[in-house]
Order: sequence, then C-alpha cells, then structure tokens
Amino acid sequence: MPSDSLVEGLSSIVGGAAVLTRPEDLIPYSFDGTATLKSRPTAVVFPKTTAQVADCVRLAIERKMPIVTRGSGTGLSGGSVPSSHCIVLCLTQMDAILDVDPRNLTLRAQPGAITMRIDEAAARYGLFYPPDPGSQRISTIGGNVAENSGGLRGLKYGVTRDYVMGLEVVLADGRVARLGNACVKDVAGYSLKDLFVGSEGTLGIITEVLLKLVPRPAARRTMLALYDSIEDAAETVSAIIAARIIPCTLEFLDRMTACCVEDFAHVGLPTDCEAVLLMETDGHPAAVADEAAQMEAIARKNRARDVRAARDDAEALQLASARRNAFAALARQRPTTILEDVTVPRSELATMVRFIADTAAALNLQIGTFGHMGDGNLHPTILTDERDTAEMERVHKAFDAIFRRTLELGGTITGEHGVGLAKKPWLRQQMGDASFELMKQVKTSLDPNRLLNPGKIFD
Ligand SMILES: Cc1cc2nc3c(=O)[nH]c(=O)nc-3n(C[C@H](O)[C@H](O)[C@H](O)COP(=O)(O)OP(=O)(O)OC[C@H]3O[C@@H](n4cnc5c(N)ncnc54)[C@H](O)[C@@H]3O)c2cc1C
Repeated sequence: MPSDSLVEGLSSIVGGAAVLTRPEDLIPYSFDGTATLKSRPTAVVFPKTTAQVADCVRLAIERKMPIVTRGSGTGLSGGSVPSSHCIVLCLTQMDAILDVDPRNLTLRAQPGAITMRIDEAAARYGLFYPPDPGSQRISTIGGNVAENSGGLRGLKYGVTRDYVMGLEVVLADGRVARLGNACVKDVAGYSLKDLFVGSEGTLGIITEVLLKLVPRPAARRTMLALYDSIEDAAETVSAIIAARIIPCTLEFLDRMTACCVEDFAHVGLPTDCEAVLLMETDGHPAAVADEAAQMEAIARKNRARDVRAARDDAEALQLASARRNAFAALARQRPTTILEDVTVPRSELATMVRFIADTAAALNLQIGTFGHMGDGNLHPTILTDERDTAEMERVHKAFDAIFRRTLELGGTITGEHGVGLAKKPWLRQQMGDASFELMKQVKTSLDPNRLLNPGKIFD
C-alpha cells in the first residue's frame, strides 16, 4: 500500500482523479504484451503536462521510488512491466497532435498520441508517417520512440529512429531537455536525441516528439505469393533485393501462422502451402506497375505456386490487416503466447527459418513463424501454457537454441521489440564486454540513482 503522504504528493501534482492505488485498479498496469511477466506497482499516475511529469520525477527522487514510464503497454519485452515498489507514469492522457507543418514536413505530438493517429493527421496534408508497427492502432508514439519500433514498411522506409527529428525529455533529475530541431541538417554537438531513441524508458521520459514526414505515395500494389517451400520464399526475398527493387513490404507467414490467420480473419489465405509472402510496392504509379510486374516474375521464377494481386484498395487493406493480425490469430490457440523477434542478415533467412522449424520438431513445441522477411526480422512465436512446467522448460531450451543460432549467424536477439526484461540474459553475449560496459556507463551517468525503469536492459 502507498503511504498517505505519497498519494497526497502525487495528487497535488496531477489531481486525485489521476492517481490509482487500489489493488484492483493497479492490475491492468501490472503487465504488458509480454507473456509470463507481471508485477504490481505502488501507484499509477496520469500526468497531462511536461511540468507535471517533471514534478513527479522530483517527488520520486525525494521518495527514492523508481519510475516506470508506460504508453499503451503493448511492449513485447517487458519494458513497461513495473518493478516492485514503483510509480508507473502512464502518458496516455498526453495524446495531443500539436501541429503538422507542411512547409517543413514535420509533425509535433505528445508522447501518448496513438501511432495510427499520427499518420492520419499527416494524410490530411497529403503527407505520410511510414513506421507502422503491427500494434499501430493502440501503441503510442512515445512507446514507439522508446523502443525504436519497426513495422511492415520498414524495408523501404526504415524504422521510428529515421523519423525522429527532435525530442523533449524529462531527465532523471527533473530537468527538461529539448534535443534536436526541425533542421534537416544539424551537427552541433553529440546527437543526444539518438541516445534516447530505443532507450526503453531507462534514460529519460519523452514528453514531446518532432517527427519527419514524407510525401504520401500516389499508388500502391499488394500481392500474395504462395510457396511449397520456405526456402523458395526466402530465395524470392533475396532475388527481389538483388534485382535492386526495394518494396515497401515483404512479409512472411509460415504454414501454421497462415492457417491460424485464415481461421481468424477468413481472407482466403491457403492453408496447404508452406509459406506465404505478402509483397507491397508503393510510389509513382508507373514505377509501382513496373516493380509489381518484376516482383511477380521473380516470385514465379523462384517456384511460387501462385501469385495473387489484390484487386482493389479494400482487398489490399484486408490482406495487410490479415498479416497484422498474425499475433492475435496465433494467441487464440493456447493459453500462453511467447513472441520473439530475432533478426539475421537476409542471406541467412532460409537457414534461420529452417532452424526454428527443426527446433520446434525436436522439442515437440508449436512454433509459428512470421515476420518482416525483407528486414531479416522473424517472429518465432511459441504457443504454450505457462502452467505446464515441463513444457515451459522445453520452451526456454528452444529460445536458448534460437538465440544462440541467431548470434552464430551474425544476427541480433531483438530487431524491434527491445531488450526489456525478457532478453537481458543474452545481451552481453551479443554486444561483447566493452560495448556492454559502455552502455552501463551511459545509464549511470544519466541516471546515477537508478530511478528510471531500473532492471530493464541490464541488471
Ligand atoms: C499485436 C502486437 C503487434 C506488434 N507489432 C510490432 C511491430 O510490428 N513492430 C514493433 O516494433 N513492435 C511491435 N509490437 C510491440 C509494441 O507494440 C511496440 O514496442 C510499441 O512501440 C510499444 O508502444 P506502447 O505505447 O505500448 O509502449 P509500452 O509497451 O507502454 O512501453 C514500451 C517501452 O517504452 C517505454 N516508454 C513508453 N513511453 C515512453 C515515454 N514517453 N518515454 C520514455 N519511455 C517510454 C516503456 O518504459 C517501455 O520500456 C507489437 C505488439 C503487439 C501487442
């Protein structure tokens, strides 16, 4: 239970209605999208302004209480899972889109703005905010920046970091720093904003973002290619890239994922092929037509059993949202869904996908794999039951083997979901001692009292 003086202190900053302390009210803030991780905070507060965030930080310093910043809690590495005896600072009420500047191609928003609303606001000016995590309908832009989230369009357009021009950040001592600006070029000093992108709430609290926008593509073509072998799908991806075509989307679903998605969304995905590629190109209409024709030819040359083009925008949207629903579709099968996001160099994709399938067979586990194949980013998703200790032991063995193989292939333990709590055990191995220690030094110099999201990324 929080002390009365803590509740009074927080209420005096944000107002009593914006402080939660009853056990039943704290439950929804005790976990995020990561399976098996939960811990109840002492209090949850909903600030509305940067000044309130800074005051909360100062109060937390006084009370020696850690702060766990939270957006929508869709994270998949346990980043916003509370540490014990902490204050959760939930920024969903700071959700305004402050302005769109079509002369500078920028958009300014508060951290709680929902990702999809950002692109909708840009679209009203014929502009485009490309990063589109599968969770874009609910995730916040603050969470996206803190995780440096990717999305289905990452291959052509990059990830969140590529669109962050400036940030307002409340530091661990309560000071407010403004980093970056609307200039296209700026080399004045260290690029501090980049330190906070992907910092998972451990270095500062993002209270405003300035984002780059780009012109909205005039045309788009979406296709599905169906394969009897995973290797052929992977070869298609390599061949498309080798042909110097950069599609905006090259997404992969294995057979188990395609079956679950079809069962869930009924979009006409075949359930008898080994692999499905969702391919999308966008841009000038003439370029789109040319690229789509080339991609179809490459897919057929690499033994695609069939290539289907969406007939219209509605069908294209339906196919893309079927892919976005992959996690939800798989999650219906068993009580516990554990989704990972290993990434390998694209030349190693077929090896990695095959290794995951072999690991599933060897350990008698259900693993569906889907992901951003054009980025080499795979989501092996284990369907299990956390109450079954014998099976959970095999699950841990499977992830250990998958992470080890990923690193052997020159890959990374996380392409977009962050380290959080879930992937801490493998970080030093990936980074090596010198860079691991350097990261800890950065954390110590910015947050010497370990106030912000302690225990995340490293112990
Ligand atoms: C169905 C589904 C699909 C997904 N698809 C993708 C995908 O395609 N690509 C992808 O990259 N991720 C994906 N994710 C993961 C997740 O949605 C992203 O990591 C997202 O950016 C998290 O946003 P959030 O608002 O939910 O943040 P939270 O989960 O609340 O927080 C995530 C991390 O950011 C920190 N944080 C949040 N807000 C701030 C802030 N203002 N200042 C400082 N730190 C902050 C938190 O402390 C935590 O460490 C998916 C998740 C789900 C459930």
